[in-house]
Amino acid sequence: MTMSRSLTEAEGILATTGTDAGRYRRLFEGVPVGLYSTTPAGAILEANPAFLQMLGYPDVAALAAVNAVDLYVDPEARRHWQARLEREGIVRGFVVQLRRRDGSLLWARSTGRAVRGPEGHVTHYEGMLEDNTERCEGKQALEDSAARLRVFLEQVPAVFWTTDRMLRILSCDGAGLAGVGLRPGAFTGKHIEEVTGWVDGWPAIAAHRRALAGESAAYVVEWPPRSFHSHVEPLHGPGGDIIGVVGMALDTTERDRAMAALAASEQRYRLLFERNLAGVYRTTLDGRILDCNDACARILGYASREELRRCNASDVYACPEDRKAFLARLEEQRCLEAVEMRLRRRDGALIWAVESVTLLQGDGCEEPVLEGTLIDITDRKRAEAQIEFQAYHDVLTSLPNRALLMDRLAQAVAHAHRRRCLVAVMFLDLDHFKLVNDTLGHSMGDLLLRAVAQRLQSSLREHDTVARIGGDEFTLLFPELPGAAEAVRMAQKVLEAVAQPFALGGQDLFITTSIGISLYPADGADAETLLKNADGAMYRAKELGRNNYQLCAPETSRRGLERLTLERHLRRALEREEFLVYYQPLVDVETCRVVAVEALLRWRHPDRGIVEPEAFIPLAEETRLVVPLGDWVLRRACAQMVQWQQAGLQGLRLAVNLSARQLQHPDLARSIERALALTRLPPGCLEMEITESVAMHNAEWTVDLLRLLRRMGVRVALDDFGTGQSALSYLKSFPLSALKIDRSFVQDITLDPDDEAIVRAVVALAHSLKLHVVAEGVETQEQLVFLREVGCDEVQGFLFGPPQPAEEILPLLRRRAAGA
Ligand code: C2E
Ligand code: MG
Ligand code: MG
Repeated sequence: MTMSRSLTEAEGILATTGTDAGRYRRLFEGVPVGLYSTTPAGAILEANPAFLQMLGYPDVAALAAVNAVDLYVDPEARRHWQARLEREGIVRGFVVQLRRRDGSLLWARSTGRAVRGPEGHVTHYEGMLEDNTERCEGKQALEDSAARLRVFLEQVPAVFWTTDRMLRILSCDGAGLAGVGLRPGAFTGKHIEEVTGWVDGWPAIAAHRRALAGESAAYVVEWPPRSFHSHVEPLHGPGGDIIGVVGMALDTTERDRAMAALAASEQRYRLLFERNLAGVYRTTLDGRILDCNDACARILGYASREELRRCNASDVYACPEDRKAFLARLEEQRCLEAVEMRLRRRDGALIWAVESVTLLQGDGCEEPVLEGTLIDITDRKRAEAQIEFQAYHDVLTSLPNRALLMDRLAQAVAHAHRRRCLVAVMFLDLDHFKLVNDTLGHSMGDLLLRAVAQRLQSSLREHDTVARIGGDEFTLLFPELPGAAEAVRMAQKVLEAVAQPFALGGQDLFITTSIGISLYPADGADAETLLKNADGAMYRAKELGRNNYQLCAPETSRRGLERLTLERHLRRALEREEFLVYYQPLVDVETCRVVAVEALLRWRHPDRGIVEPEAFIPLAEETRLVVPLGDWVLRRACAQMVQWQQAGLQGLRLAVNLSARQLQHPDLARSIERALALTRLPPGCLEMEITESVAMHNAEWTVDLLRLLRRMGVRVALDDFGTGQSALSYLKSFPLSALKIDRSFVQDITLDPDDEAIVRAVVALAHSLKLHVVAEGVETQEQLVFLREVGCDEVQGFLFGPPQPAEEILPLLRRRAAGA
C-alpha cells in the first residue's frame, strides 16, 4: 500500500461518523497513519499508536503532560495552522516540522479538521499526521543546490540558454547579459538567428546547427563592448533524442584584454631584443648560445645569428680563460655590470666590448642560463689610447714628451742605484734652428724636427729614450751605462748622425746640435737635477762654438775625451798594425848565458813615437781590446822564436805576458794551442807569465787553467811576485815553473836590508817548492853578485839588455848563446 492511498482511505474514514465503535476503534489503532485530536488550547485528547510511534512516546499517558503546541518547532506554524482550521474547517497537506520526545526533528504532513459543537464554535481538532521527513529533506537539498547554482549564475559573467530543435530560444539567463545591457529572458522565444545576426552571427548559427547534429561546438562572439567564448552542446530529451541546444557563453573581455596586453608586451620585448643596437644573448654555463640578436652577430663579425649560434661562447673571448674568470666572478656576484672585455671576432681581430650579464639560476630542473648584453667599445678604447698617448707624447714627432721622460728617468735612476751603474742624460739643442724656421718656413722646420727625431731614434739602443721636450730641444736618456766613456761615445755618435745632411723638400739641409751631458750619480741624484745639469752643460757647449758636447763636470769631460780618443786610436792601431814586439833577454846567473827572452809589447804611435805598454794596456783591458792584442803578440813572438831557432839559436825559452782579461777568456788555452800549431813552436819553449794579483783573483779557475797548460807542455811563471797579496798556500797548488821577483825588491837590494831579507826568503821558498827563481830589473853588478849569492837562478834587466826589437837583440842572442 502506498502512502498516498492509505492517506486517502484514512481521510475517508474520518469524514464519516461511525456507528460501529468497535470496528472503528480497530481501524483507529491499526492504521499506519498518526491520528489524534486536541482541544483548541492544545490538550491532546486522543492519539493512536502510529502517532505515538511517530513522535516517540510509549503510550497515551506519556502524552498527558504534553501540549500540542510544544510539539511544533515553530509555535508560529501552529497558530497559522489553527487559524486556517478555524477559517476553512479543513486544511490538507500542511507541512510542518515537529519535535520528537528525544528532541530529534521530523517533517510531517498534516491534514486536520475543526469540529464544531451545536452552538457552532470549535470544540476540538481532529487530524492525521504522515511522516514526511525523507521527502522534505530531499527537497531541502535540492533547494540548497539550486540556490548555489543561482549564486553561480548571478556572479559568473556568462550567459546560459537552451533552444528547441527549431533553434528558438526557450530560456536565456545569466549575469553575462548585464554586460551587454540585457535582462534575463530578453531573448526568450526569439530564433537564434535573430539574436546572433545582430553580432555577426554566422559562426554561432553554424555551431548551433552542429550541436543539433550531435556535436559540441565552440565559437567566439564579439558583442561590443564585450566578447564571449561560447560553447554549445546538444540538448537530449528523456528518450535520449536531441530536442534542442544548450549553450553557454563566457564573457572573456577582461581575460582577452589581459592576454592582448601580454602579447603586446612580449612583442615589445622581442623588438627590443631584435632591434637593439647592443648585442643581446642567452647562453648556458658551458657556452652553448641559446639565443642572440643580429647586433650580437654583427659586433662579433658573423654573417648571421644562426652562424654565431653554432659557436661556443668561449670562442668569442680573446682567450678561453677570460670567460672562465668571468664566470667565476659571475657565480659569486650573480650579476656583473659594465665589465670591459677583449673579444675575438670571427676573423680573429680583437675588439673591446663592455658586457653586463646576469646569471639566472633555473628552478632545479632547468639548467642555469646567462643573459647578457654587449656593446662594442673598440672605438672608444682606441680614442682613450690616443688620448693617453698624446698625454705622454709630443704631437709633432710622436716622441715621448717631458712627462714621460721624467718618469723613465726617475725609474732609470732608481734602477741604477740598485745595480750601481751609470745613467746618462743628454740635453740637445739644435744649432741655429730659428734660422731654418725664418728662412724656409715653419712647415720645413717641422719636417726637419721630425727627421731629426727619427735620426736620433735610429742611432740609439732599444732601451734608450729620445724625448722632445719643446721647440728644438731633445733629451736622450741612457740607462745602465758601463762608464762615462760610453756616454761620450754616444754623444759623438749623435753629433755625427745629426750633422749628416737631411734631404727634405728636394734640398739638402744641414744642421748641427749642441749637447750637454750629465751622469748619475756624479752630476745629480734625481731626475730634475740631472736634467738641469745637462741643460747647463748644453749652454757651455753652445758657448764653446756649438756642434760639440760638454760633460757636466769639466774634469770628467776632459778625461772622458782623452780616454775616448785613446780607445779609438788603439782600435785603429790594431787595424793598421802599429804594434811591435820588443824582446828582453833572461840570463842564467851562473853561466851568464841568455836562456830566454821576454816578449814585451810596444805601440809605434804615429805622433807620439814608441809608447810603453803601461800607457795603453789598462784601457785595452777595460775595452777588451787586450784579447785580440795579446793573441797577436803571442803569434808574433812564437813566429819570431821559430825564426831564431831556424837561424841556429837553440835552447831559448820565450816568455809572453798574459793579462787578466786573457786569463779569464774561455778561449785562452785554445788560442795558445793554435799559435803553437800555426808557428810550429815546441810547447816546451813557451812560458806564459801571469801576474800574481790576477792569478789570485780567481784561484780555482787559475789552477784549472795552469794544469791545462802544463798538460800541453807550456810552462807558467808567476810575474811581479811580491807586489800582490799571494796566499802562500796557493803557490803550492799552482803548477808553476818559475817565480819572477818584482824589480821593486831588486832595486834596493844592496841598500835596504829588508829587501835583502825578502829576496833571500823568496828564493828559499821558491826552491823549496822546486820553482825556478828569476829576478827582474837587475841594473848593477852588485845586484847580480847578491842575487848569485842568494841562489837566484836567472836574472833580467838593463844590465844585460833593455827590451829591443828582434833585429837589434839578435847579435846579443848570438853572443850570449855562445856564452860570451
Ligand atoms: P813585466 O812583465 O814585469 O815586464 C818587465 C818590465 O820591466 C818591462 O817594462 C821592462 O822594460 C822593465 N824592465 C826590464 N829590465 C829593467 C830594468 O833593469 N830597470 C827598469 N827600470 N825596468 C826594467 P815594459 O816593457 O814597459 O812592460 C811593462 C809591463 O807591461 C810588463 O811588465 C807587463 O806586465 C806588461 N806588458 C808588456 N808587454 C805585454 C804584453 O804583450 N801583454 C801583456 N798582457 N802585458 C804586457
Ligand atoms: Mg813580464
Ligand atoms: Mg814583471
